[in-house]
Amino acid sequence: MHIDMNPAPHLAWQEEALCAQTGADFFFPEPGSSVREAKRICGLCPIRAACLAYALDHDERFGVWGGLSEKERLELRRTCN
Ligand code: SF4
Repeated sequence: MHIDMNPAPHLAWQEEALCAQTGADFFFPEPGSSVREAKRICGLCPIRAACLAYALDHDERFGVWGGLSEKERLELRRTCN
């Protein structure tokens, strides 16, 4: 995910994002590249649930959010609808 350095109050949870410390490259890999490292970092992130909820609410199409890849979020959406 990309982090706004001056998030609006409703995005204050992003200040705890581990990916803000590691950089966005892991989270927006080139097509066909591994997302394993991004998922590992998400697994340690204290705001994983909020991040995933945000991505689903805002229909984020690209990158790893809340530990799920684009394809996994799409599958989750399909099973929940
Ligand atoms: S769950 Fe992953 S993508 Fe979301 S804020 Fe944490 S490290 Fe970043």
